[in-house]
Amino acid sequence: MFQEWDIPTPGSGQILVKTEACGVCHTDLHAAHGDWPLKPTLPFIPGHEGIGLVAAVGSGVTIVKEGDRVGVPWLYSACGHCEYCLTAWETVCAKAEFGGYTKNGGFAEYILADPDYVAHIPGGLAPTYAAPLICAGITTYKGIKQTEVKAGDWIVISGAGGLGHLAIQYAKVMGLLVCAVDIEDSKLAHAKRLGADLVVNASQGDPAAAVKKGTDGGAHGVLITAPSLGAFRQGIGMTRKHGTCVLVGLPPGEFPVPLFDVVANCITIRGSFVGNREDMAEALAFAAEGKVKADIELQPLSAINKVFDLEHDDVAARVVLEFAAA
Ligand code: NAD
Ligand code: ZN
Ligand code: ZN
Repeated sequence: MFQEWDIPTPGSGQILVKTEACGVCHTDLHAAHGDWPLKPTLPFIPGHEGIGLVAAVGSGVTIVKEGDRVGVPWLYSACGHCEYCLTAWETVCAKAEFGGYTKNGGFAEYILADPDYVAHIPGGLAPTYAAPLICAGITTYKGIKQTEVKAGDWIVISGAGGLGHLAIQYAKVMGLLVCAVDIEDSKLAHAKRLGADLVVNASQGDPAAAVKKGTDGGAHGVLITAPSLGAFRQGIGMTRKHGTCVLVGLPPGEFPVPLFDVVANCITIRGSFVGNREDMAEALAFAAEGKVKADIELQPLSAINKVFDLEHDDVAARVVLEFAAA
């Protein structure tokens, strides 16, 4: 639903960002459907891949200035003082606020932000290309690190959409052998173009057996981005002995864990939630150096309801809302 709202005024310690672009994440769909136990307060403005120029700064703000290009991410703010914040795990701070969820986000012409938690967009990176990196990019880059794989190891990227198509690129830059898993042949063809060494269609035959065969015993790391519970059970079965299966997809519900296999094969199952501010800087740097590039389809904000209705298989990996320049 479109509404005219007044342009907010940044208070002390806040900044106002004039939006240039904002990616549409599958999380925005989960938010619209009320899929998760944590419910946002209605009404709210979704969008946590908003990129724009600082239009005004409140009193006491020194870390950014007017005209800087910043991103307003999912990790909108945190307390800065708890045991998690002190150890760079601010993503699990009990006082964390989430952009486009507990705080208004980037599906709007202006966004209020916390300057201590915005992404700093490197020069030369266009706002439309930067947008997917501040959620899909950082989440998969961090998720790959959380698998603890090393160059030459196999990684499975399950789900080759908005998150997965960036995960494949980060994994290749990190020297990994990549097996992409999806249920759409078009996504798998795209995964191959992005450098995947092996692709498996999860809707045919026994995908875990196909991965084990193609990787000679299973992948050292598995990153599940698919928003489908079936992919989670399959992902455990794709994990090599003593390997790590990292969960980032967030479909509502639970999935059965084959306990004996996990215990007897010493498999680690680990959740991962976006990334910290250093992960953000690193994830953006890969793109600034031209090593990772989001595959985007531009749409105006007015198309958002149509975008939400679209089946993802015939669009580019990430829809990015582009805002007219002032
Ligand atoms: P997307 O819709 O762009 O892509 C999902 C992909 O998964 C599609 O290519 C789809 O074909 C594929 N898929 C569907 N079912 C599958 C299955 N059974 N096996 C393999 N592939 C399958 O979505 P997205 O924007 O990439 O988001 C994916 C998920 O990640 C969502 O649940 C989202 O909420 C979550 N997410 C989590 C974090 C985090 O920090 N943990 C951050 C961002 C998004
Ligand atoms: Zn997201
Ligand atoms: Zn904290």
